[in-house]
Amino acid sequence: MAVYKNPNYLQPSTSDAFDHDQGPRTAASLAGIYRCMGCHREIGIAAGHALPPHGHHTHTSAQGSIRWRLVVYADHNPK
Ligand SMILES: [Zn+2]
Repeated sequence: MAVYKNPNYLQPSTSDAFDHDQGPRTAASLAGIYRCMGCHREIGIAAGHALPPHGHHTHTSAQGSIRWRLVVYADHNPK
């Protein structure tokens, strides 16, 4: 699970960006932390970079395929 110390640097969001999974090797829609929905492993990645491939790590059959979901994104345009 993603961890933080200072809550002043994070804010809740209802953005649809958090509601869908992305497959291996697809471009990360936003820079941030992504979680594998099969095993809960997390990665950090820059926007537009390819998410890790199918062979990035192994799953049991119960965990299914690797599916990446955005957990936290970096705000490049603070107000
Ligand atoms: Zn996984």
